[in-house]
Amino acid sequence: MFPTRRMRRVRSRTIQPLLCETTISKNDLVAPLFVDETASAPVPISSMPGQFRYPVSGIAAVVQKFRDRGIRAVLLFGIPAHKDEGATAAYDPQGVVQQAVRNIKAACPDMLVITDVCACEYTSHGHCGIVGDSRCSGPDLLNDESLLLMNKIATSHAEAGADIVAPSCMLDGMVGSIRAALDTAGYEEVLILSYSTKFSSALYGPFREAAESGFSFGDRTTYQMNPANGREAFLESQLDADEGADILMVKPAGPYLDVLADVATLGLPVAAYQVSGEYSMIKAAAERGWIKEKETVLETLTCIKRAGADLIITYFAYDVCGWLS
Ligand SMILES: [Zn+2]
Repeated sequence: MFPTRRMRRVRSRTIQPLLCETTISKNDLVAPLFVDETASAPVPISSMPGQFRYPVSGIAAVVQKFRDRGIRAVLLFGIPAHKDEGATAAYDPQGVVQQAVRNIKAACPDMLVITDVCACEYTSHGHCGIVGDSRCSGPDLLNDESLLLMNKIATSHAEAGADIVAPSCMLDGMVGSIRAALDTAGYEEVLILSYSTKFSSALYGPFREAAESGFSFGDRTTYQMNPANGREAFLESQLDADEGADILMVKPAGPYLDVLADVATLGLPVAAYQVSGEYSMIKAAAERGWIKEKETVLETLTCIKRAGADLIITYFAYDVCGWLS
């Protein structure tokens, strides 16, 4: 019996482009950027070749360069000069992110500015909020105390001009709490992009060098999710949707495409974060000549989009925009 359904008919070279289901465009991409209050010139990040920590004074020029290449959105992380137990630099009106937002908005008003809302770069212990003794597990991140901190950080970013705030601390109730704080302060037009399903991943390793956000004790498994849990991953995003998140997120991206496809069924826009480890693995293999960088990057991004991502946060954003031009 010869097959009547010949799949190769739809793969002829002439028809291939017409039947392509998923295409990456510049509008899909968000570029993460590190702004360092202690830097006076761009500082290369050794574990992330091609990435830098930029000084506050130079960030607007960098973003202008990204805009000229067609990137419409950046996600900012700050590295402050001062860290303490309460992460006070994170909500300082003159803080590193607040200054960076104002500089970017002055130079490049149509760039969509997203700010990471967390405390791990600002606390002396490196955890994502206020730490204290928990009932059963010793020193740990205190949930409701940390929510008040996140409200202050998010509001200060909105005040500086951020279009979207992106809480990444995986606290219970963080979206509802921040939404109420923003609305009370008159920032009801500021969106919340929630890191709604964020796994406790080994792939964040290079980021910790980039953002100086390593922790001095314990780990983050009491707030970030176990990579083994898919149903819990869906519930985390569902709760944030119920609390008023405008955009959901799955982080990391590539190894979690099943979760991404699930979360996309909630009906809200979904972002996927191709994280530092995903970036550095491709870079390292490409440097050794083991894989082709451009082909690998475009394949990973296409698959992330196919799985359901409306936005992809990727350190390759600038390069991809060059390739697509
Ligand atoms: Zn954090």
